[in-house]
Amino acid sequence: MTADTRMRVDFLGTRGAFPLNIPETQRLGTETSCVMLTVGADRLILDAGTGLNRIAPSEGDDLIVLTHFHYDHVLGLPYFLSRKKEGRVTLITSCADDVSHFENKLSHIFGGIGFPVELSEIFANTRLIVGSESECIHIDPWTIDSIALNHPGHAFGYAVAHASVGERLCYLMDHEHHAEYPTEALAHFAHEAALVIYDAAYSDADYTPHAGYGHSTIEEGQRFRVKSQCQQIAFMGHAMERLDADISRITDMLDPSREILAHDGLSISL
Ligand SMILES: [Zn+2]
Ligand SMILES: [Zn+2]
Repeated sequence: MTADTRMRVDFLGTRGAFPLNIPETQRLGTETSCVMLTVGADRLILDAGTGLNRIAPSEGDDLIVLTHFHYDHVLGLPYFLSRKKEGRVTLITSCADDVSHFENKLSHIFGGIGFPVELSEIFANTRLIVGSESECIHIDPWTIDSIALNHPGHAFGYAVAHASVGERLCYLMDHEHHAEYPTEALAHFAHEAALVIYDAAYSDADYTPHAGYGHSTIEEGQRFRVKSQCQQIAFMGHAMERLDADISRITDMLDPSREILAHDGLSISL
């Protein structure tokens, strides 16, 4: 395989809830959810947390797929859009009923009291696309499938493929494992994916006080890896309580040949 036919995955932000830039988080990372996929000159961005500020807008079109509208997944948008000088930004989500619902959600976050710049100015050069579970989104050369996750206020996971790469990547943020949630369907969605990026905000040991917050655990992710038969799984969405001091405890739990503790700045090729 040539370099151009591999998919590169850059973890730009791997923290959940809030950015946390203190001395104790410098290795694991300080920024919130954002992952960039690159194949040759093509790139697609998953979520627009503060990690989005680590990269510059392209000179062409930028594609950004949003799992949902919690702050940690959209807070990087205004600054990124303000730096966009050429081309446009296409924002895609399945977490809205239609385009006007999508607009309403954005204006709820960034309009009025939420942000000092007019919405019409921030989003002047964007187009909005709404997907659904029943229909695959094709934006050449990318195809994007979506599935509803278990998260307060809803969130959608995505399976992304590129026309010149056989590998499929699944991004499952934010998601809480739950007895009543059809894990079978999610495992089928992620079946044999080259990489699953999984919400592992907690470990089983520290999960119980956070049950219902909409996040899962490292151990649940490991069980999901087996169930889905994915080739690799990367854990992110680190909770506020997770610090660099926890890294070795967690990596000791992992199978290093197929389980990855993601951190800001991590880059892997599929
Ligand atoms: Zn989140
Ligand atoms: Zn969330």
